[in-house]
Amino acid sequence: MILSLDQGTSSSRAIIFDHNGGIVARAQQEFPQYFPAPGWVEHDPEEIWTSQSQVVAAAMDQTGLRASDIAAVGLTNQRETTILWDRATGHPLYRAIVWQDRRTSPLCQALQEQGLEELFRRRTGLRLDPYFSGTKIRWLLDHVEGLRAKANRGEVAFGTVDSWLTWKLTGGRLHITDATNASRTLLYNIHTGAWDDELLQALDIPPSLLPEVRSNSEIYGPIIGLPGLAGVPLAGMAGDQHAALFGQACTETGLAKNTYGTGCFVLMPTGPHAVPSRHGLITTVAWKIGDRTEYALEGSIFVAGALIQWLRDGLGIIQTAPEVEALAQQVETTGGVAVVPAFVGLGAPHWDPHARGTILGITRGTGAPHIARACLEAIAWQVVEVLEAMEADSGIALKELRVDGGACSNNLLLQIQADFLGHPVARPTTTETTALGAAFLAGLAVGFWRDRAEITALWKLDRPFKPTRPREAVDLSRRRWLAAIKRAQGWETDSCP
Ligand code: ADP
Repeated sequence: MILSLDQGTSSSRAIIFDHNGGIVARAQQEFPQYFPAPGWVEHDPEEIWTSQSQVVAAAMDQTGLRASDIAAVGLTNQRETTILWDRATGHPLYRAIVWQDRRTSPLCQALQEQGLEELFRRRTGLRLDPYFSGTKIRWLLDHVEGLRAKANRGEVAFGTVDSWLTWKLTGGRLHITDATNASRTLLYNIHTGAWDDELLQALDIPPSLLPEVRSNSEIYGPIIGLPGLAGVPLAGMAGDQHAALFGQACTETGLAKNTYGTGCFVLMPTGPHAVPSRHGLITTVAWKIGDRTEYALEGSIFVAGALIQWLRDGLGIIQTAPEVEALAQQVETTGGVAVVPAFVGLGAPHWDPHARGTILGITRGTGAPHIARACLEAIAWQVVEVLEAMEADSGIALKELRVDGGACSNNLLLQIQADFLGHPVARPTTTETTALGAAFLAGLAVGFWRDRAEITALWKLDRPFKPTRPREAVDLSRRRWLAAIKRAQGWETDSCP
């Protein structure tokens, strides 16, 4: 068996997989979120570790398995979340600053004003945005008393959650990260595969903080910090979206994956070429296996499942999220209604922080089912726009979209997605693709699976969704969507100066 640790933003999970990629045991635990100021989001690194080690124990207990039954451990994690700890004591020096935290917006703006955006984009594939780790590290060095002096003495370690957990899992022996997690820091040159001195200087971060960057599939070392698993090799590691891409066996060009959660994360592999984006996407390392680094384009959609949560909690027209499917199914079309879920502005390809949500085209005949259907269509249009941006940037034609995440159980949503996309949408039998991807990476390193072809054969289709809606109907819906986007843009500044 392979044990996968999936350390997410709201919960930690442990899943044990068998040789067919089937789930043998699963345990999950939520942990506290801290919001100390508007726009700030923190986790306690020790609570991350405790929840992660407890779910491992729970999963092992469920099955009565022993360490000798586990061939390897794989790790996947929430990305960008930033932790600094004391190299001597192993104690965190501040809470983890979570990827969602916006406190470094002014710093990002200052770097943009210095004209540094293009340099960061070329080297790292990223935008200068508070999302990524670099400016969070800088904030900690500037704001936590005594930290910079301590860092200058070489006494401080930085890590994203993968590094922190690896440190804990190996009893403080390893301070490492992997190429995918490194590629989210604003400090890592994705073309040379090394930390970038010029970027470190621009952010005023001492190189002594940094972990060693390793591949995504290799034996890093034996587990020491988990009593029931002593000696089992830790052998695979990747950021959550990269692991999901691998778990979806999206290893050939023309495939892409989308995770329908609170937001959506769309990734399209581009093989050995790091494709720069002209359409508001980011370029990222897909994985490094052996000496070969492959890349992907990534686009995030801020509001997807959250729109369905709003129908439930804000409007109250459904009691549970899955009810949206039956409600939307009561009507054949939206009746001319379009919803733009720009609750926090619009991301790729429109990029307008001042856009706000709109519902347009309401008549006296409009009811809750029309609005529900328009919400599903809005999620699908956003995904289409990101995928089209990927095709335009990469010149790669999409053949199939593979899907996972909480909202992918919605058959109507996936049918609408296929209709709008004009390509098939494929839902696999295992939708725990993030944990599965980490298991695949670890299993490959220890020979549990022979090669990537064997893994690809394990990906099993649950249900395909093929485009069936007439093109004219799709085109009409698209024109409405684009017209609605125009009306949503600039709303915050235009109407409320
Ligand atoms: P996350 O990992 O971001 O917390 P999940 O992958 O657990 O998200 O998915 C939960 C999200 O999916 C919620 O926003 C919820 O509203 C939405 N969701 C869950 N089931 C459905 C459904 N059947 N149809 C549409 N949306 C759904």
